[in-house]
Amino acid sequence: MELSRRAEGIKPSSTLAISAKASELKAQGLDIVGFGVGEPDFDTPDHIKEAAIQAIKDGFTKYTAAAGIPELRKAVAKKLKKDNGLDYDFSQIVISNGGKHALVNAFMAILNDGDEVIIPAPYWLSYSEIVNIAGGVPVIVNTSKENNYMVTKDELEAAYTEKTKAFILVSPSNPTGMVSSMDDLKMIADFAIEKDIFVVADEMYEKLIYDEDKKHISIASLGKDIYDRTILVNGVSKSYAMTGWRVGYTASNPKIAKLISSLQSHMTSNINSIAQKATLAALEGPQDCVVEMCKEFKKRRDYIFEREEKIPFISALKPEGAFYLFIDVSEIYGKKYEGVEINSAADMAALLIEKKFVAVVPCADFGMPDHIRLSYATSIETIKKGMDRIEEFVNELK
Ligand code: PLP
Repeated sequence: MELSRRAEGIKPSSTLAISAKASELKAQGLDIVGFGVGEPDFDTPDHIKEAAIQAIKDGFTKYTAAAGIPELRKAVAKKLKKDNGLDYDFSQIVISNGGKHALVNAFMAILNDGDEVIIPAPYWLSYSEIVNIAGGVPVIVNTSKENNYMVTKDELEAAYTEKTKAFILVSPSNPTGMVSSMDDLKMIADFAIEKDIFVVADEMYEKLIYDEDKKHISIASLGKDIYDRTILVNGVSKSYAMTGWRVGYTASNPKIAKLISSLQSHMTSNINSIAQKATLAALEGPQDCVVEMCKEFKKRRDYIFEREEKIPFISALKPEGAFYLFIDVSEIYGKKYEGVEINSAADMAALLIEKKFVAVVPCADFGMPDHIRLSYATSIETIKKGMDRIEEFVNELK
């Protein structure tokens, strides 16, 4: 019997597959260096865990309102005001099962079958599949390293059709680590207003920016017109080391928030009640844990980039935020490792794990097949070991 064509068209996440492969090899006792997983290696801060334990002890273990407990939605609204200069009533906030679910909700709320969504490449691999899940059509726009992988007005104009419904903005970016400037954001906002389309703004890595002269700006803060058409997506996974708790949220105009809330009420109901209390503690409690983790990521960013710069035939831009190094490996093509010719980033990634036990993500599924992505959300010692091995690998190429 035929199964859902939509479901059969969805590719499983290749980054999760790489992490699973690395874990499997590790379990076999191999000394694997994992640059695959996009997850902070820090533990969730204690005061957040304590809040969850207290929630259990208090019997806070029942259904809550589908869109989340009012205290948490209010805490998110307060955070958006304080950090981003945005005014949202708590009714405009919906708490979801991680940023990923928040993105699914956003697209389910705005897309009809066949609506197009412009996605600049390289992009986080789930975007295109989430758009497909919601019945939309991803329209991929290639950006260039010369332009810091930022989309240009001409590229946007070329991608636009009458079916365009939305644009995906991510800053800081996974996989490039680049942070959008005020000029980039103004151009995108003007374009969205002129063409009457939505902007889905993914701000998951907002707290992880490493240079004094770079600042996170929410596109929704650029004026009422863009505020009304932005669906802001954020969460606590990356900034508070809470990936496993599965908490994200959307902030949007009241009409969209209502749709998202109804969708969620039938699909998942509320997210885990205990995780909601933990997130409340994360947002309302001391923020020095975030600053400390950011400092550590900055050290790692500096170290990994310095190492990469010294390795021949590969090149990258210095990441400004998030925790990824996005490396162009095309100069390696045509060279051989132990007689095996390398003609793609996927070939290189396969050899790196097989010969050097280093797991990296080849970026075909991110829309840039000549690149690999290294997550530096791991200790300096591990980064050193991994970069030593990559250097050795490149030096052994013939
Ligand atoms: N957005 C981006 C750019 C991400 O990299 C990720 C996770 O890797 C997410 C959203 C989803 O985050 P969560 O783990 O909260 O679902």
